[in-house]
Amino acid sequence: MIEKGIILKGVGSFYEVLTEAQESVTCKARGVFRKQHITPTVGDHVTIEKQPRGYALIDSILPRKNILVRPPVANIDQIFIVIAASAPEPDWLLLDRMIVEATKMKITPVPVLNKIDDASPAVISQFETEYRHFDKLCVSAHSKEGLTLLKEKLHGKVSCFSGQSAVGKSSLLNALFPDLQLAVGELSEKIDRGKHTTRHAELVPYENGAVLDTPGFSLLESDWIEQYELDACYPEFAYAPFRCRYPDCMHDSEPDCGVKALLQNGTLSQGRYERYIVLARENQERRKHRYD
Ligand code: ZN
Repeated sequence: MIEKGIILKGVGSFYEVLTEAQESVTCKARGVFRKQHITPTVGDHVTIEKQPRGYALIDSILPRKNILVRPPVANIDQIFIVIAASAPEPDWLLLDRMIVEATKMKITPVPVLNKIDDASPAVISQFETEYRHFDKLCVSAHSKEGLTLLKEKLHGKVSCFSGQSAVGKSSLLNALFPDLQLAVGELSEKIDRGKHTTRHAELVPYENGAVLDTPGFSLLESDWIEQYELDACYPEFAYAPFRCRYPDCMHDSEPDCGVKALLQNGTLSQGRYERYIVLARENQERRKHRYD
């Protein structure tokens, strides 16, 4: 009987697959994948077939929505991008950069402001205002505020957490999964990063979805993209770029710019706009050096 499932974990040539019937089955991959240079990856949607004797076999791997390389994991639906309200100060540019990287990979970005129990009202207000076009969360792993909402958002999706060091990703994961004994602490993140080895990530089943257990997970910056692709990562832009006088408008110093008009009417915040310009110029630089 052919069953559908998702790969939760891979160790050596063995894979743990969670079937649609919520059964965990240890599988091996058919030899054909090696010939095709396809490596079954955590997060892959697969079909498996139990054998009369021995291990079940992975028969087919369904097309991937996305694949991340470090750690290797496929088909992530959403990424919780965690920033701290204080200690360290929020890095808004990093947040915007990660929103862009995630959107490019068809991963829904969810900005999360952590440590709100220790936040200045100005920081919370900036977060609420500048990211109002996003599904976002204010939480505190410490006071447990907002954690119920966070749990609800995990339902039925494959999720991961990311953000710079010391923003509290591990504390959030541990507050959500107290029984899991995750590799906790920012210290272990640093050790992992220093080792230069590929970490084996694992998906933890949760509420008809799953969570990547690795808090040290990071999005790699990819290649340059077209300007319209970058613009598409800014939900507040909507159709504004189509109202620019010049079709190749960079929304920088050009006159009659639809995006800058959004600044005037308050749809786009000054902070988001200034950081957009930083990212757009970086993208242009990468594009110039694309044949280097
Ligand atoms: Zn423009």
